[in-house]
Amino acid sequence: MQTYPLHIDGARREPASGEYFESYDPFVGQPWARIARGNADDVDAAVGAAHRALTTGPWPEMTASARGKLLRCLGEAIAERSDDLARTEVRDNGKLYAEMSAQTAYIPEWFHYYGGLCDKLEGTVVPIDKKGYFAYTTTAPVGVVAIITPWNSPLLLLTWKLAAALAAGCTVVIKPSEHTSASTLEFVALLEDAGLPPGVVNVVTGFGAEVGGPLVDHPQVRKVSFTGSDATGRRIGEQAARGVKHVSLELGGKSPNIVFADADLDAAVNGAVSGIFAATGQTCIAGSRLLIQSSVHDEVVDRVVALAATARMGDPADPATQVGPVTTRDQYQKVLSYIDIATSEGAQLRLGGVPATRPECGDGWFVEPTVFTGVENTSRLAQEEVFGPVLAVIPFDDEKEAIAIANDSRYGLGAGVWTSDIGRAFRMAEAIHSGTVWVNTYRAVSYMMPFGGVKDSGLGRENGIDAVGEYLETKSVWINIGAPTGNPFVLR
Ligand code: NAD
Repeated sequence: MQTYPLHIDGARREPASGEYFESYDPFVGQPWARIARGNADDVDAAVGAAHRALTTGPWPEMTASARGKLLRCLGEAIAERSDDLARTEVRDNGKLYAEMSAQTAYIPEWFHYYGGLCDKLEGTVVPIDKKGYFAYTTTAPVGVVAIITPWNSPLLLLTWKLAAALAAGCTVVIKPSEHTSASTLEFVALLEDAGLPPGVVNVVTGFGAEVGGPLVDHPQVRKVSFTGSDATGRRIGEQAARGVKHVSLELGGKSPNIVFADADLDAAVNGAVSGIFAATGQTCIAGSRLLIQSSVHDEVVDRVVALAATARMGDPADPATQVGPVTTRDQYQKVLSYIDIATSEGAQLRLGGVPATRPECGDGWFVEPTVFTGVENTSRLAQEEVFGPVLAVIPFDDEKEAIAIANDSRYGLGAGVWTSDIGRAFRMAEAIHSGTVWVNTYRAVSYMMPFGGVKDSGLGRENGIDAVGEYLETKSVWINIGAPTGNPFVLR
C-alpha cells in the first residue's frame, strides 16, 4: 500500500492526528493507499502557510508576466507526467483510463490559457464625473482560497479552480475528496518540483467535517470554491456567508437530453448513450433525463437499449473497457437503491437494473447500464441526482412540452438538444434554464468556455476569461489633483 501524508508549505507532513485512512480501488473493492487524516490543526498550519506565501516571499514579488511564465511551465511539467497522474486516478476512482488519460492530457491547456491571462488583468481609468480627480481601478487577488473537490474527476475539476486562482495571484489550500486524494497530492508535489514556490498550494486530506468545515470557517480564508453535491454546497454557502466570504459552488444536475423526431437519430442515440453511460453516469452533467419526441420514442428507446447493451464492462485500466465500476461502495448502494425507487414508482425497466455479475467485473462495484421508460417527470428518478448509470426516459409531444419538462427541475447545469432545425436549436438554447446547452453534441467542455449552473446547480462560472474574476477583488483609487480638501462637513 502506498502512503500519502499531507502537503503543507512545500513539504510532506504527518497529520496532527497521526492517523491514516484507506483509499479503495473500486475495481477490486480493496484498499490500495493510506491517506493522512487531517484535522483543524492541519488546516490551521496549511492556511497559515498559504497566508505567508500570499504576503511574503517570492509569490507576491513576482510580476504578472513572471507568474504567467511560471504557469505555462507548470503546464509543461504536467504534460510530461499526465499519464502517471491518469493511472493514479483510475486506481483511485475506477473511471476509465481512456477518459482519465484524456482529462489529464488536457489539463496543461488550463495552465497555458490562464498563464497567458496573468499579465492581461488590467484595471481601468474611470472618466470620473467630478472635477479635480484622477480615478482608476486595479485588481488584487482575493486572498487565500479554499478549494474543495469531489471524487469523480479529481484533477480536472481541481484545475478549473486552481489555474484561475493562481493566475489571479491567490494562494490555495486544497481539500480533495476523501475517496480520491492521491492524485491531488502527486499533482501538487509535481507543481513544486517545476518551480511553484512552497506554501502557494497546500493540501489537507481527510473528511468533510474534520477538514472541510474548519477550512471554510478559517478566518484567513477569503474565498471558498467548491464542487460537489448540492447538500454539501448549501451547507458550505451558509458557513461562508457567516464569515462574509466569497463562494463559488459547482453542484449537481439532472440534465435533460432532448431528442426531436427531426434529429439525426444515429447521432442522437450515440449522444444519449454517451450522456448517461460515459463515466458510468458519475458526472455532474450526465444526461440522466432522456426526453424523446413521441413519434420516434419507441425507435430511439430500442436503439439506445441495444447500443447500451453492447457496452464492454470491466477493468477501467483496459483501454477497451467502456463502462467501469462505481467509485465508492456507498455510491454503488445508492445507485441500486434508486433502481428500487424507480421500480416502485412504476417506471418500466428496459435494460439492466442489477449489479453486474459478468466475470470481467470481478468483485468490483459494478451496476449494469440501466434504462427506465415511462418515467414521470415528477418522480424521484426524474428529479433527484442518481450519479450512476441509470437513464430515465420521458416522452414529449412538441417543443413547448419539451421545454416545460426540461425546466421542471430544481437543477440547471447542462442540457442536450438533438434536432436538424436550426431555428428550433436557437429557440431551445434560449428557453432551457441551464448553464450550458449542447446542440447535436453532449459533454463538450473547454478551458475557454464558461461552465457552471443555474438554480440548485450552483453559483459562479469556471473556465473562460471571466472565471479569473472569481479570484479577484477590484480596488478603486481616487487621487485629488485639484483643489486641496476643503470643508470637512461636505462630501465632494
Ligand atoms: P460531496 O458533496 O459529498 O463531497 C464533495 C467534497 O466536499 C468532498 O471533498 C467532501 O469531503 C467535502 N465535504 C463534505 N462535507 C463537507 C463539509 N461539511 N464541509 C466542507 N466540505 C465537506 O460530493 P461528492 O459525492 O464527492 O461528489 C459528487 C457530487 O458532486 C455530485 O452531486 C455531482 O453532481 C457533483 N459534481 C458537480 C460538478 C460541477 O461542476 N457542477 C462536477 C462534478 C461533481
